[in-house]
Amino acid sequence: MKETAQRRPIVQMQGIDKRFDDDLILRGIDLEIGEGEFFSLLGPSGCGKTTLLRTIAGFETPSAGRLILDGRDMAGVPANHRPTNMVFQSYAIFPHLNVADNVGFGLRRDPRNAQDKARAVAEALEMVGLAGYGRRSATALSGGQRQRVALARALILKPRVLLLDEPMSALDKKLRETMQAELRRLQRQVGITFILVTHDQEEALIMSDRVAVMFDGRIAQMAPPRELYLRPASRQVAQFIGFMSFLPAQVSGAEVDVAGLGRAGVEPGQAPGGLHDGQADIGIRPEMLSLVEDAPRPGQRLSEGVVTEVEYYGDMSYYDIVLDGAAQPVVVSMKNLPGGVAAELGDRVKVSWDASSLMVFPPRS
Ligand code: ATP
Repeated sequence: MKETAQRRPIVQMQGIDKRFDDDLILRGIDLEIGEGEFFSLLGPSGCGKTTLLRTIAGFETPSAGRLILDGRDMAGVPANHRPTNMVFQSYAIFPHLNVADNVGFGLRRDPRNAQDKARAVAEALEMVGLAGYGRRSATALSGGQRQRVALARALILKPRVLLLDEPMSALDKKLRETMQAELRRLQRQVGITFILVTHDQEEALIMSDRVAVMFDGRIAQMAPPRELYLRPASRQVAQFIGFMSFLPAQVSGAEVDVAGLGRAGVEPGQAPGGLHDGQADIGIRPEMLSLVEDAPRPGQRLSEGVVTEVEYYGDMSYYDIVLDGAAQPVVVSMKNLPGGVAAELGDRVKVSWDASSLMVFPPRS
């Protein structure tokens, strides 16, 4: 993967606000998306993802700020003159047209002759795995095929940026997973910048080069998936992406004293809000803690506690453990391997952990 910093910027937003009546829906959005990047806008329902996407497309006009696409300021540039194309959640397929005519719809004013257009349609259908489907009725397609037709129709216009608004939300889980893989492959193949709106954390992590996490009209963090998961910028991001347990702690210099874990040294990168002497909350992911028989894992520390809840998921088990000296439990996940360490409700257990996996957040007010 190309480093983001090396990519030429294709979408630039500077201080974008969007107001609907009295409601400020987008609040000072600054972002830069690189050419050929797979970028996702992730956030809970109503946080403004779709509005941000529609602003890039030109279906909404910002109330303040600047939008630059491919080096050009988009103020006053209508949607059909932007280097973007959008795939809608509903696919918006015309039922009275066959598959080929649906895909070729955007070429109707294209000066190319009919033969060249037919070739372009065939190529686009091939690209999305629908070679030979041109004469089929658009109404006779499955959900996954409709989605492919919508993609082919958008790609045939060769946009510089393809905007996708929850394109997989109507598909069942199995088909969605297949389409996620296909969409990622297609994006690499065509090299176009894809901007995907999704409220599905897993989908954003699986598919994207970078993800912007949005809450309440603001971008809370913009980072590659790994960084988002391992170094969340806030408690809110940490809780939105995966699960995290929290324990109260006291910070003193570069050391934290955590209820149930004891004293540990931390690096500045583990404290996105800065290390400030006094109260803090420590966050830790379930897979960063492990049950052990006797000794801690190499280089790790050992704490003890009691199991207060067990959830069995087949491949994994999740344990709530109240560590000695702590008031609330931490969650520990363990793979269920033959001969692996496991525990029962009420057991006294040993927990191995590493100071570098702790995150330090300001205390909950
Ligand atoms: P979802 O995942 O539910 O689609 P979202 O994050 O995409 O959510 P938006 O669709 O961008 O959110 O909507 C953000 C807020 O803006 C919502 O409160 C919505 O009601 C409001 N909103 C969106 N479009 C308009 C409009 N045209 N007029 C007034 N309010 C709007």
